[in-house]
Amino acid sequence: MRICVIGSGYVGLVSGACFSDLGNNVICVDKDKQKINNLNNGIIPIYEPGLEELVLKNKKQNRLFFSTDINNSIKKSDIIFICVGTPTKNNKADLRYVFKAVHNIKKNLNKYKIIVTKSTVPVTTGDKIEKILNLKKNEKKFNVVSNPEFLREGEAIRDFLYPDRVVIGTDSKKANNIMRNLYIPIIKKRSRYFQTSRRAAELIKYASNAFLATKISYINEIANLCEKSNIDVKEVSNGIGLDQRIGERFLRAGPGYGGSCFPKDTKALVTTANKFNTDLSIVKTVIKSNNNRNKLLTSKIQKIMNNNLKNKIITFLGVTFKAGTDDMRESSSLKIIPKLVNKGSLIRYYEPTGVKKEFKKFKNIKYCLNINEACKYSDLLIIHTEWNEFKQLNFKNLVRKNNFKVYDMRNLYSPDVMKKNKINYFCVGR
Ligand code: NAD
Repeated sequence: MRICVIGSGYVGLVSGACFSDLGNNVICVDKDKQKINNLNNGIIPIYEPGLEELVLKNKKQNRLFFSTDINNSIKKSDIIFICVGTPTKNNKADLRYVFKAVHNIKKNLNKYKIIVTKSTVPVTTGDKIEKILNLKKNEKKFNVVSNPEFLREGEAIRDFLYPDRVVIGTDSKKANNIMRNLYIPIIKKRSRYFQTSRRAAELIKYASNAFLATKISYINEIANLCEKSNIDVKEVSNGIGLDQRIGERFLRAGPGYGGSCFPKDTKALVTTANKFNTDLSIVKTVIKSNNNRNKLLTSKIQKIMNNNLKNKIITFLGVTFKAGTDDMRESSSLKIIPKLVNKGSLIRYYEPTGVKKEFKKFKNIKYCLNINEACKYSDLLIIHTEWNEFKQLNFKNLVRKNNFKVYDMRNLYSPDVMKKNKINYFCVGR
């Protein structure tokens, strides 16, 4: 298959690299010239384990190409994957990048093509794309298919190649056959191929993300109850997760959910439901609960520091929205850290994926090159993400100061061991 992937970000680049690795000829295009230049020079613009090796290997084999020439890339291809961003604007999915890509496709429909939305797009977007492409005039020239992506950053390659399911939304037999053939190497590895209507596929993506966001918010609220009733939330998570109807994943208490998907997709789902006069009261409550979560964690930090934050050195270990990624979008650190700075705290952070541009404008936020530099003489260490390198720290050796405190937002350490070692230790829901 000759494939064109429009948008070479977390989803587009991973999809392009994986499809090329499965033997297809792939051109990844992007409007960002710098990104494409870097990719052509073997420089990977994002942190994603295993991606660099996969890109370099397939580039070398002449199966994977990078270009800013969207028109020619579309003309040469049989399947066009739209993988551009769909950020939030006024609580809705902003589809301007999707439609820009669709207009490019319209100009270059030189032969039959399948246009696939892999970007997360609201119900009826496929219908709108079809309309733009002018179904009557171009009737035999294309099919619009929804193929939502479920990969997680940090696990993207494995999730792409070994997904729980591949969802294909189309009523066209021809398009379905082509999509099934494309995914055969993946389906053979036991992933379920699930064909459905295009609108259902669009909704499956939003409904899945909202469900996972609900699980996170739910356990976070249960953690609040555990803190007040002297129960360990980890034990509660294990106890309920063993029920196969519930499942153990996404039941770890911690900061509110963040990242490039859950916050925007929950809001966009509510907006879509409103459009169809449907009240998604559960999802609305989840959004509210998650917004409160970051406020609650900030108050907890204040409480831990006895309301004395001025000139206190507070160290963040990890600032991205979760471990395994360099993605800062909607990270709870973006909400918590500026509040602490306003209260006069001196913030240091160590982040395995490097310095973050989001904090450059703050005078009192300092990026440290290693854990030692970040923790030395600190008043409070906050474990914000769960990278492996944060899991076995010798806090006393690192901090070298009396009365320092540790706030473990990911419950990586045992409260009993910390107590034995006489460390002022705070965690979540325990
Ligand atoms: P991203 O911001 O990392 O990448 C989007 C890319 O598209 C950017 O490089 C941008 O320059 C490019 N782009 C935008 N408009 C373009 C155009 N007209 N022509 C060419 N390139 C264009 O976004 P992402 O995280 O990869 O997400 C893409 C979509 O996939 C979103 O809808 C998102 O919700 C969905 N999704 C993301 C994830 C994830 O974990 N990141 C997982 C599943 C689904």
